[in-house]
Amino acid sequence: MIDEELAKQHIRDLIEFAGDNPDRDGLKETPDRVLRMFREMFRGYDASQAPQITVFDNGHDGLVYDGTIVDKGHFYSVCEHHCRTFFGTYTFAYIPNPDGKVLGLSKIGRVVDYCSSRLQIQERLARDIVQMLEAALGTENPPLGMAIALNGRHMCKESRGARKQGSMTSVYLTGVFKSQPELRREFLEIHAVSHSSEK
Ligand SMILES: [Zn+2]
Repeated sequence: MIDEELAKQHIRDLIEFAGDNPDRDGLKETPDRVLRMFREMFRGYDASQAPQITVFDNGHDGLVYDGTIVDKGHFYSVCEHHCRTFFGTYTFAYIPNPDGKVLGLSKIGRVVDYCSSRLQIQERLARDIVQMLEAALGTENPPLGMAIALNGRHMCKESRGARKQGSMTSVYLTGVFKSQPELRREFLEIHAVSHSSEK
C-alpha cells in the first residue's frame, strides 16, 4: 500500500509538471481532494466494497422466468491508457435457468458501478460485469445466457489527440446469446433502441 503523503506529493508534482504552482490558494488542497476522489473512483479494487448481490429462486414469486430480462442504465469509468473518463449507456440482458436463480434487478446497476470503478478498457468492463453477475447466480443451474452492450464516449479521444466525437460499442455475450443468432439480433435491437432514445 502506497503511503498517503507520498501519493499527495506525486499529485503535487503532476500539477507542477502541468506548469502551475501547487502552492497557490486554489491548488493547495487539490492533492488531498484528488486522493479522496481516487478512493471513491477506484473502489472497484476493494473487495470489501463489492455489492452484495441478492438472488432469488426462480419461481419464488409464483412465476418461473424463462424469457429475456433486461436492465438499462449509465456507467462512468476511467480508461487505463490515459486515466481519462469514459462513460455512456449499458444494456444488460439475461435468461435465467428455470431451475436456477434470478437476480435482484437493482443489483445489476451496482455491479456495473463497482466494475467501472477501476482503470478499465471498455471490453474488459463488459466482461467483468457479466462474470460477476454470472458468479452470483452460481454454477449449479447457471443462467442460459447473458449479454451486455456498452456504448461509451471516451474523453481521451474527444478532448485531445484525435478530438473526434463519437461513441464506441462493446458487446459481450455468453450462452444462448452467443450460440443463437436470433437472440443476439434481438438483444442488439433492444440495445440500439435504448441507446438512440437517450440522446
Ligand atoms: Zn484512453
